[in-house]
Amino acid sequence: MMRVFFIYKLMIDYIIVGSGLAGISFAETLFHHDKTFVVFDNNSQNSSKIAGGLYNPVILKRFSQVWNANEQLEIADKFYKTIEQKLSIQVDFKLPIYRKFFSIEEQNDWFTASDQPSLTPFLSDKIVNKKYNGIESPFGYGEVFHTGYVDTEVLLHHYHAYLKNLNLFNEHKFDYKKLQIFEDHIEYLNITAKHIVFAEGFGIHANPYFNYLPLDGTKGELFIIKAPDLKLDVIINTSVFILPLGNHLYKVGATYTWNDKTDNPTAEGKQELINRIQEILTCDFEIIEHFAGVRPTVKDRRPLLGTHFKHNNMHILNGLGTRGVMLGPAMALDLYEYIENSKPLEKAIDIKRYEKLL
Ligand SMILES: Cc1cc2nc3c(=O)[nH]c(=O)nc-3n(C[C@H](O)[C@H](O)[C@H](O)COP(=O)(O)OP(=O)(O)OC[C@H]3O[C@@H](n4cnc5c(N)ncnc54)[C@H](O)[C@@H]3O)c2cc1C
Repeated sequence: MMRVFFIYKLMIDYIIVGSGLAGISFAETLFHHDKTFVVFDNNSQNSSKIAGGLYNPVILKRFSQVWNANEQLEIADKFYKTIEQKLSIQVDFKLPIYRKFFSIEEQNDWFTASDQPSLTPFLSDKIVNKKYNGIESPFGYGEVFHTGYVDTEVLLHHYHAYLKNLNLFNEHKFDYKKLQIFEDHIEYLNITAKHIVFAEGFGIHANPYFNYLPLDGTKGELFIIKAPDLKLDVIINTSVFILPLGNHLYKVGATYTWNDKTDNPTAEGKQELINRIQEILTCDFEIIEHFAGVRPTVKDRRPLLGTHFKHNNMHILNGLGTRGVMLGPAMALDLYEYIENSKPLEKAIDIKRYEKLL
């Protein structure tokens, strides 16, 4: 008798391309909802790895609340806590941000801002007159509440190791030419999945399905410095931030440039950071490391979420811009709800707003 074998390819729920803050936010959201997935990442972008990692619900330059700040903070808080517990690491360091005042006018602007109902929960209405060794600040500081930083390097390192352990992490370049798209599934190499989510950050420019989107990219450079005479237990924010890491080390950044889209640290970036640091610090410092990366910024400063206009199983999670730490977890959840439960996306973040560019 002839025996017939049927070979069933196992269908997983998702392929995720990219495992920066966007990709791991989506991966963790899938875990939470018991979905199956695999991740591809070829270490070609380093924005998430080298980021300052700060989260701050207030745009201090313009004294306005970050878009949807309350919701984002709440989701991000739970998100990083869950990962900390799961991986037995600490990544979320809750630290106040102090804005250094340079004049009486700046103090007055602060008080006016702290009176605005949307900012009252986040801006202290008292001037902080603490003295920090290594910084002179005769006009004091304003304190922002609900702030801190996520150690993104530690987060990525441990999260990737965790995915590798579960055999869910492919350290390969995703080759768009090998992707096959069918009506109800997609195939890539030997993987069959219901959906694919692209989260390549600035790498989106190589993606033939979504490279029409206006993701400009803004290069940023930052330092790790050593300053034994600086005694700081808060994050200082002026034209740059100074973030205490312990052992006399501080992260300092960042620059913003639009004409160079490489990850290479530059002499100009270095000089700019040195000049800014010298405006704030009165003590000596030594540059220990110098990094650069390209932030996935969008012209209208809103993320890029949604589904491909032609392929309903192909999606994007990008455009986290300068705020990936706060935005990533909330945007991953929004995209998940949109795909799985047809919950509409806010118009401001839906890629449909750029349909005219197609
Ligand atoms: C200097 C600097 C300072 C910053 N400071 C802060 C800050 O203080 N707070 C804050 O919230 N944000 C900050 N940011 C912004 C933050 O880093 C970004 O919002 C965030 O990293 C974006 O994450 P992402 O996952 O979208 O992109 P990325 O981090 O760029 O990740 C994309 C991933 O996709 C992978 N990839 C791309 N193409 C492919 C392919 N074909 N195949 C496989 N893998 C691929 C890349 O290897 C990469 O790992 C800063 C950024 C910079 C550069």
